[in-house]
Amino acid sequence: MGALTAYHSFRLRPAQADEAIVGWYGGHPRGIRAHVWPRCRVCGNPMCHMAQLNAGPALNLGPWQRLTIFICHATGGRCEDWEPFKGANKVLLQATADDDLFDGPPTVRVYRRLLLAADPPTDERELILAGRRANREKEAINQLRIDKLGGGPVWLYGDGTPQSPTGRVPMRLVAQITTNIVTFDITPRGLAYVFIDPSDPTVDVGALVWQSGS
Ligand SMILES: [Zn+2]
Repeated sequence: MGALTAYHSFRLRPAQADEAIVGWYGGHPRGIRAHVWPRCRVCGNPMCHMAQLNAGPALNLGPWQRLTIFICHATGGRCEDWEPFKGANKVLLQATADDDLFDGPPTVRVYRRLLLAADPPTDERELILAGRRANREKEAINQLRIDKLGGGPVWLYGDGTPQSPTGRVPMRLVAQITTNIVTFDITPRGLAYVFIDPSDPTVDVGALVWQSGS
């Protein structure tokens, strides 16, 4: 395998027994104390946990060990949970990956817990260039409409990459989440995109945005 670049992504899929785990969807998150559990800035309710993803060869989180994703489901979408900076979703980063601590408030929804493994890397640039050469660029891009770590976002309705509030640069995609593995309560066939800010050293470096399926 050659050196990894920003064009490489790692497909996420349900893990088999004894396989190396890169994170999980759903269930109750580990290591999130009640006082840091995010509440929706719009409606004030505790958010629902979507996923925890661990730093590793497939996921560069800089100094952080784990990323935890929350979303507000308390008002059936009225909080505009698809907006990256509205406060109705939250990407938290953890300096340690604590697998034991269970804490936090009851929330309106708990997704089924599902352990995740990652496939070997795909060079998305190669894939798309090969598709272009074969006059099948759209098919190549559609192959990337999957759950994955890294690479580029496959947008459903145009580029929604959030700009870093502090650094005024585009944020970096760390994960893309579909509704295929766990039927997350974003619209079916919608896609969620998780970004982190390369210029911000605080725990608030993350942003989630999602686009609706058709
Ligand atoms: Zn809310």
